[in-house]
Amino acid sequence: MGNPLNVLVVGYEASPFYKRGGLGDVVSSLPKALYTVGVDARVVIPYYNSIESEYKEKRIGEFSVVFGSKIEIVTVYSSFLAKTKIPIYFLQNKKHLASINLRGRNKKIDQFAFFDLCVVEFAFWLDEHKKWCPSLIHCNDWQTALIPLLMQKRIPTLLTIHNLNYQGKGSLKVLDLLHIKDKDAKELRRGIPATEINLLGEGIIHTTQVSTVSPSYAQEITSDYDNDPIHNFIVRREKERGKKDQVWGILNGIDYDIWNPKIDEKIAFKYDEATWEIGKKENKKDLLKQFSLENRLTFCFVGRMATQKGLDLLLETVDDIVSQNVNIIILGSGLKSIEKSISRAAKKYPLHMRVKLTYSEELAHQFYAASDFILIPSRYEPCGLIQMIAMRYGTLPIASVTGGLKDSIKDGYNGFLFKNGSASELLHAIKKAVELYNKPQEYRVMVKRAIEKDFSWETSSLLYKKLYIDTINSY
Ligand code: ADP
Repeated sequence: MGNPLNVLVVGYEASPFYKRGGLGDVVSSLPKALYTVGVDARVVIPYYNSIESEYKEKRIGEFSVVFGSKIEIVTVYSSFLAKTKIPIYFLQNKKHLASINLRGRNKKIDQFAFFDLCVVEFAFWLDEHKKWCPSLIHCNDWQTALIPLLMQKRIPTLLTIHNLNYQGKGSLKVLDLLHIKDKDAKELRRGIPATEINLLGEGIIHTTQVSTVSPSYAQEITSDYDNDPIHNFIVRREKERGKKDQVWGILNGIDYDIWNPKIDEKIAFKYDEATWEIGKKENKKDLLKQFSLENRLTFCFVGRMATQKGLDLLLETVDDIVSQNVNIIILGSGLKSIEKSISRAAKKYPLHMRVKLTYSEELAHQFYAASDFILIPSRYEPCGLIQMIAMRYGTLPIASVTGGLKDSIKDGYNGFLFKNGSASELLHAIKKAVELYNKPQEYRVMVKRAIEKDFSWETSSLLYKKLYIDTINSY
């Protein structure tokens, strides 16, 4: 069906319309990069109420789907990715797609099952109404993982796993809503709990190809070190299908139109490779003044407050870190228990620590520009964008040696890596960082290397293009 290089990229978030993590960056920046290598990529996400009230996009049509016993009308809105002519479509249904904050796992499963059903219908709607038919659908994470099953081999699919720990597990009742028979949900016959559905598992079974967001994470999730059934399943899938159907690992890139201190409107003082020292100094002075913190060596953390992010290691070492006479500034939100522990630590160190328990694009940019080092103690990290962004802003990463962190940071060359899960190794790395900072000559060399490291999409977009073509050809 269609031109071999028409790719419909599907996700539950896309920056700036709705973004809470790295997937939002990728769903917007990858299509831009694909365009420059000759792939006609377009994006589709749900039209949440929050997007509608902020962006008021153009309505371009509607279609209907049957969900359970009801006919649901889906309205299509469209816009363009920032500063491009790349279309982004939004699917609206006030009953199922209005809110991203539904409580309860089955509600979320039903919501994205509905979205996936809409996307399948939408792919054909596009062909009919816009004369653009996807030759491949690029699904991302569990929220889009039912598309391969629902597509029933009409259009090839690539499923990219951005985080294997989020699988979309819930009641099998969702199959009734989709009019799918148990026996067609193949994963159920593969020894993964037959009492519930696992959307990511279904996606992995039914999709034409599977990929993930860094070579190291691909290796980690295909080695059977873990008892997670999906882990075991991926291993088996590779064994059964052979090397040509391996889980491909392609490192994410970052969008240099957004993450570039030279043109960044969100920071107080712009700077580049030549002026980073003065630029960072001014941004730091500015931010620390806002936070009423003394102007001294500053470590930051930016990210979701999830167990994955290893904030417990930071808390274990916080006394020793602060004793180095440094600041720690933290930006993030998520699990209430983690938020509470972090706030408690900040209260204990009012002269050294500030915490912003919020999601703020503005502050994130300022944190990257103003900090000297960024702490990334993740227990696992499929790719991680914050280390790439921070390095672009001349902020050296101190990160666990895992997944994409391992693939993007060279220990002692453009940042520091430490054994993941080890608080004492984290502290050791922090001490090395402080030592480096006190040797300005060596520090400058390392920062320059970090700033100059190429994290653009240039190489990875070509790898995706090749994978799309191979996927279509193998179909
Ligand atoms: P993940 O996808 O696991 O959340 P990544 O490192 O891949 O982690 O991407 C995180 C993205 O989300 C980055 O763009 C980062 O700047 C942004 N981000 C995370 N937390 C916040 C926050 N509290 N405020 C603003 N931006 C945030």
